[in-house]
Amino acid sequence: MSKSDKLTVKLYREDPYLREFEAEVTSIDGNGVVLDRTAFYPEGGGQEGDTGIVEGVRVTDTRMVDDRIVHILEAPPSFKVGDNVKCQIDWERRHRTMRLHSAAHIMEHFLWQRLGKINRLGSHVDDKKDRADYEYDGKLPPDELKAAEEATNRFLAEGHEIRIRLDPSRPGIRIWSCGDIEMPCGGTHVRNTREIGAIRLRRKNPGRGVERVETALAED
Ligand SMILES: [Zn+2]
Repeated sequence: MSKSDKLTVKLYREDPYLREFEAEVTSIDGNGVVLDRTAFYPEGGGQEGDTGIVEGVRVTDTRMVDDRIVHILEAPPSFKVGDNVKCQIDWERRHRTMRLHSAAHIMEHFLWQRLGKINRLGSHVDDKKDRADYEYDGKLPPDELKAAEEATNRFLAEGHEIRIRLDPSRPGIRIWSCGDIEMPCGGTHVRNTREIGAIRLRRKNPGRGVERVETALAED
């Protein structure tokens, strides 16, 4: 792939609800395809890359490679650079990921309210669950986790709007906000907490000094 390609227009930024679109193929390298525009979210910020279909070929992952969004196909495609292709993301998977991603930010707010701002070491979200690892000495108290879960579910049911804005002082940084809660995040999110439904929290201990909080949809 040449470096001279223009950057892909990130359709998932303007409209995280876009499921189908058409695009022009700008480069192909083996199974990796770059488009002039895409609704496929590339893995980043702890959120998994989208899967779906490009012109009838399965996309198994989407990744950022050297600032370019690469759609990883199941097999080398028969289409060529310059072709217009029909694309579709796996919406069910993406929407569940959006619900869980938004829920995890809200969960963290209520967890911090109870335990203080414990340091998050990492996080990962897919369509099954969000997991967040915190630096923590000992065991997260189960009653505090339960209280955070209840507070989160009350808040979700209240139907708060979720907004994304750009940070004027830090170019490229997007701020996620909901009620009084805000944080920098470039992931995809639902518009309203009602869309999330209720969640369930679970604690795990992946190792010494680290406590993991898993957020899952209560309906599962
Ligand atoms: Zn986020």
